[in-house]
Amino acid sequence: MLFNPEMECLPRPQLRALQNKRLKEQVQYVYQRVPFYQQKLDRLGINPATFRGLEELPKLGFTKKADFRDTYPFGLFAVPQTEVARLHCSSGTTGKATVVGYTAEDLQTFAELVARSLAAAGCRPGMKVQNAYGYGLFTGGLGIHYGAEKLGLTVIPVSGGSTDRQLQLLQDFRPEIICATPSYAQVLAEEIQRRNIPLEALNLRYAVLGAEPWSEAIRSQVQQGLRVQATNIYGLSEIMGPGVSQEDVDERGTGSYIWEDHFYPEVVDKDTGEPVAEGEAGVLVLTTLTKRAMPILRYWTGDITHLTYEHSEKRTHVKMGPIRGRADDMLIIRGVNFFPTQVEDIISSLDHVSPYYQVVASRRGSLDEVEVHVEIEEALMRQLGLDALSDEVVQQHECLQHLRGMFAKKIKDTIGLSMKVTLLGFGQLPRSEGGKLSRVKDLRNL
Ligand code: ADP
Repeated sequence: MLFNPEMECLPRPQLRALQNKRLKEQVQYVYQRVPFYQQKLDRLGINPATFRGLEELPKLGFTKKADFRDTYPFGLFAVPQTEVARLHCSSGTTGKATVVGYTAEDLQTFAELVARSLAAAGCRPGMKVQNAYGYGLFTGGLGIHYGAEKLGLTVIPVSGGSTDRQLQLLQDFRPEIICATPSYAQVLAEEIQRRNIPLEALNLRYAVLGAEPWSEAIRSQVQQGLRVQATNIYGLSEIMGPGVSQEDVDERGTGSYIWEDHFYPEVVDKDTGEPVAEGEAGVLVLTTLTKRAMPILRYWTGDITHLTYEHSEKRTHVKMGPIRGRADDMLIIRGVNFFPTQVEDIISSLDHVSPYYQVVASRRGSLDEVEVHVEIEEALMRQLGLDALSDEVVQQHECLQHLRGMFAKKIKDTIGLSMKVTLLGFGQLPRSEGGKLSRVKDLRNL
């Protein structure tokens, strides 16, 4: 279902014209209202009155997370505080939280784009949604909440965590939809199995997962474990919050639509900042086209993805690939660059390992080392009659040694690095407590 068919299907020439017009207005607007941008444009010699729009956009340089920190808390706001209807913060995964603000009109747009996203995910007016994203300063909870109301869903605002209660509500209120981080959806799926809750006791059909990188391996686990169709929702506080892009339930695995009438996307080389060719991976850079309280020009998201403008039957908007990680999640080990999510891809190609893993980078002397901890499947644990795993236990089982060897070889063949593989028993790695889960530990103090 399309929530806003006119905008979601706007022919590309018209969409581009609309973006161009909105961008010119946005540039003039920030120039008049935000000293940070006024000084920046003056420095770059750009006159907003003669700015030519999209074709000149790359001249504007980038806005980075550090700019939010330098102007903390309200330096990037374009309206007086009396016109700010709500404040949020980024979750602070990569340092001090940044503050963002919305006018009443921005909140309307936010709700509409989340409504569009939920409709694309399969949700229909009249359904119930259990919203397990954290409520509070984090944009996830309230962002989904108002979008869901706008679409006409019944919202169960349970927030993240409290697994017992989540499971109770899933059985008592029987929502069709769950919104959560993928790592928390994994926890729910696992607990349902552990507690022998029959899937018939639930009424779930769709899961809308985002706020952190996830893989096809996690998608399979959640889809089977909760008996749902799971789609990706992407967003970030600096630009809006959840609902910047969304995967369509019928087009799973082909990328997430970026709502281009409100955000202009570019992908650039992470070292040079130059645009890359369509389909090539680089850093996603987003420009807001309609924001009032806090318009942002060319925000360096740090998220690595690619864009595809391939024609789709359903919508005209561009799709972005899954986020492989943040540019700053990339590990450089003995000269080889890799994203921990590449390990996840390998996991999904192996039998008998669970989708739970952790990548630990450390330094011995002057040499960097990487160790991958991965859990084996519960079924294999049971088959071997094991409660936990250790190196000694692995030594005693040929099949485990074989599994470990095969995993290490695949890593070496695919990523080009030798990594120590440690097999763990199911349940030995940390689980999400309701929010984002970090699967990387860098102990090198670089
Ligand atoms: P923080 O940057 O402190 O985590 P946010 O809560 O604003 O604060 O999180 C936004 C970031 O979360 C994005 O820049 C991205 O790295 C990550 N993220 C959000 N949604 C997704 C998704 N669907 N897939 C991968 N990463 C995501």
